[in-house]
Amino acid sequence: MDKVVSSAVRIAFYYAIFAGLWILFSDLAVETFIDSANLRALAQTYKGLAFVVVTAMLLLILVYQNNRTLEKSNDLDSLTGLHSINMFIRTLDKSIRKLKPNEQIILGFLDIDDFKTLNDTIGFERADLFLQELAVDITEITLSGSVTARLQADQFASFAIIDTNDEFDMDDHVLGFQRLFAHRAKKQNIDATCCIGVALFPNDGVTAKELMVSATEALGVAKQQKNAIQYHDQALTNKAMQRRQMVLDLRQAIQEDKLTIVYQPKYDLNTLTVSGVEVLVRWVHDKHGFISPAEFIPLAEDNHLTSAISMLVVRKAAEQLHNANLLGSGLKHVAINVSATEFNNLEEMRALTQFIQKLDYFSPYVRIEITETATLTDIKKSVGVIADLQESGITFSIDDFGTGYTSLTMLKDLTVDEIKIDRSFVSEIEHDERSKTIVNAIIAMAQSFGVNIVAEGIETAKQMSLLQTMGCQEAQGFYLAKPMPINELVTHLKENRKLH
Ligand code: C2E
Ligand code: MG
Ligand code: MG
Repeated sequence: MDKVVSSAVRIAFYYAIFAGLWILFSDLAVETFIDSANLRALAQTYKGLAFVVVTAMLLLILVYQNNRTLEKSNDLDSLTGLHSINMFIRTLDKSIRKLKPNEQIILGFLDIDDFKTLNDTIGFERADLFLQELAVDITEITLSGSVTARLQADQFASFAIIDTNDEFDMDDHVLGFQRLFAHRAKKQNIDATCCIGVALFPNDGVTAKELMVSATEALGVAKQQKNAIQYHDQALTNKAMQRRQMVLDLRQAIQEDKLTIVYQPKYDLNTLTVSGVEVLVRWVHDKHGFISPAEFIPLAEDNHLTSAISMLVVRKAAEQLHNANLLGSGLKHVAINVSATEFNNLEEMRALTQFIQKLDYFSPYVRIEITETATLTDIKKSVGVIADLQESGITFSIDDFGTGYTSLTMLKDLTVDEIKIDRSFVSEIEHDERSKTIVNAIIAMAQSFGVNIVAEGIETAKQMSLLQTMGCQEAQGFYLAKPMPINELVTHLKENRKLH
């Protein structure tokens, strides 16, 4: 029965019971409980009025309660338990009004492609179950403070508040919904895809309604295809598509072994001889030319490609240095960069360590470089990973030291072999007394810990001589040598030896 009709019947039922009891027993009650004849007469006169007042109150309470229940059930979607559209708009409106100046809202609509056909092929029951499970999945991946709703049969909506000061990968967040959808469909053996339309506050609308209209428009464009994502702002869509293409290209370049490596020599500042090399990965894109690792390593991190890159770099460096007979002849260590996501993944680090260990002619020279910020996420875990590496005879260096803000306390817990002072300090020591003081302090501290110290990014003779007087042991930078391929490294090392 319709909810409104059933609640009206319920109210009428309560009224009938109360009125019936009143008619049957009110006279008897007056006779039984009131002794005085005067009072009895009074009660008989005003009994009807009392009935009107009591029933009015009773009706008031029942109708109020009933409206609250109806309102509540209208706020939630009965199939999934998510917010209903009305509730969603109200919450979005409230959130917009409470937004701080540094906050933004991302609103996305997810719509299942060809839902009608899907319903016909798999049946309503399975389709309902799919929607229910999907709703659970969606609420699980949303950011804290996110609100999720089912707007129509096959349409979900979600909004999240983003702090613009945080590094937020919008495209990855949106792709996350599409990945989750594909995962759920696969799990339930359902052949389905979905489209997503995205709008941003304040760019695409400054009220809840405007933002909803923008997301609907974006979804409309996405629905012209299947399995598509569309931002209301076309420029964002283009950027996201370029990025996705770049990931595909990077994956292909790795598979086809198209990434190459170069070596940047590290110098001993006392003897001015090459003490080691840092291996740096290079990618020359077929269409876009040289792409800096600073640009593609973060892409690799977001797409689980860093482990493959590390293996490739290790394999190539071992092969080239071994073939050129450079291992041991003056090169004390070969530094390999490992990215943050890889370092924080125990399985990937174990696999990399084993891979290096198998190359027994190479492993004694390997030094793993991790940026300071990567070790900071979980110091306890980092201690374990570093200990595992060192047990396998691999040394460990902290890259870009000084940029992580908690450098000093971290050194108390981590047993590192080397610290590389970040280029940002080195580039300022000539002119900025504060940077000079920081570098001096880092060197003094490293010396007292017995940790090797390397200055990164030396670009002038003055920087080098200053670092020498400060007692820095090693240095690396364009002033000394730029990154170079293996054949140039061979010549460079020969010349360097001849000089001394
Ligand atoms: P990094 O490990 O701190 O490497 C040093 C970067 O500074 C290199 O840039 C190098 O070319 C550059 N550099 C060295 N000396 C100077 C100098 O005197 N002046 C200036 N301006 N720059 C100098 P590159 O090769 O572009 O690498 C950038 C970053 O990308 C690296 O920083 C590292 O974090 C990452 N990276 C490079 N290769 C790999 C790799 O194989 N795996 C991973 N996971 N990350 C890598
Ligand atoms: Mg490095
Ligand atoms: Mg560095």
